[in-house]
Amino acid sequence: MRVFVSIKHVPDVMSERRIENGRLVRGEDDTLNELDENAIEAAVQAVEDHGGEVIAVTMGPEGAEDSAMLALQKGADRAIVVTDDRLAGSDVVGTAQVLTAVARKLAEEEPIDLIITGMASLDGMTSMVPAAIAADLQWPYLSLASEIQIDEDAVEVFRSADGFDDRLRAGLPAVVSVTDQVNEPRFPNFKDMRAARKKPLDVWSLDDLADVVDVSNMAIGKHGAGTMVLSADEEPERSAGQVIQDAGEGGKKLAEYIAEVLK
Ligand SMILES: Cc1cc2nc3c(=O)[nH]c(=O)nc-3n(C[C@H](O)[C@H](O)[C@H](O)COP(=O)(O)OP(=O)(O)OC[C@H]3O[C@@H](n4cnc5c(N)ncnc54)[C@H](O)[C@@H]3O)c2cc1C
Repeated sequence: MRVFVSIKHVPDVMSERRIENGRLVRGEDDTLNELDENAIEAAVQAVEDHGGEVIAVTMGPEGAEDSAMLALQKGADRAIVVTDDRLAGSDVVGTAQVLTAVARKLAEEEPIDLIITGMASLDGMTSMVPAAIAADLQWPYLSLASEIQIDEDAVEVFRSADGFDDRLRAGLPAVVSVTDQVNEPRFPNFKDMRAARKKPLDVWSLDDLADVVDVSNMAIGKHGAGTMVLSADEEPERSAGQVIQDAGEGGKKLAEYIAEVLK
């Protein structure tokens, strides 16, 4: 079983988020997208059950190797970082095109059986990349799995959303996005960390993908992006509101308050 797990290197959610010139400021204290830890765990468990290989793949700025290394410590067998100045400002379409190109290049060595992603990145939060990858590859896509069952030739997921419980099945190869309910990501111990240093971590540029895709035709970077982030501000904190003690005049005070608000 050859499992491609896509992981994103994102600004730490606790850090101050800034948008400058339509782009999120990165590189100050970026880290592995927390929701991708569940994707890595699902991939590692699949290979523990069926044998094979987990390949962690990230498209990111300088520093994304840190997230790749964490994926290796958490059990991935190999990691690939695609980093290139021409990718800065890429939107979902461009990001998916790059990840799809990596999948195609890896498939030249040996077929990929499954692509697992997190449910969302904690910066862009569009949850669109897995669907875009599946569309590019024309593979089935099972989204937001909170349970996942992987057999030799098919994957079955359970998804619970808006009061509906769905159970879906697709033949492999397929793309699956998993939620943070699907498993408990493992913590690497000292032995895992040491072993990870010996595992292959390759850094590719777009030139390394030119044999599987026409780079000049990709919708990558700020110029290729069909969308531009103008601002991404934290919502203002909600005020505590006004407490009206009802000592018989509650109704009257409420009416006065509403009249005041509607003025
Ligand atoms: C505030 C903000 C809003 C944005 N809104 C939009 C928008 O509406 N439309 C748009 O096209 N772009 C948007 N972008 C740009 C978008 O974030 C990037 O294109 C990004 O690379 C992919 O989208 P995402 O972060 O939403 O990922 P999501 O689709 O939320 O990520 C889902 C999963 O895909 C995988 N994944 C995502 N990015 C990568 C990566 N770089 N490498 C490896 N795996 C990855 C991970 O497994 C992740 O868990 C936005 C960016 C920001 C900062």
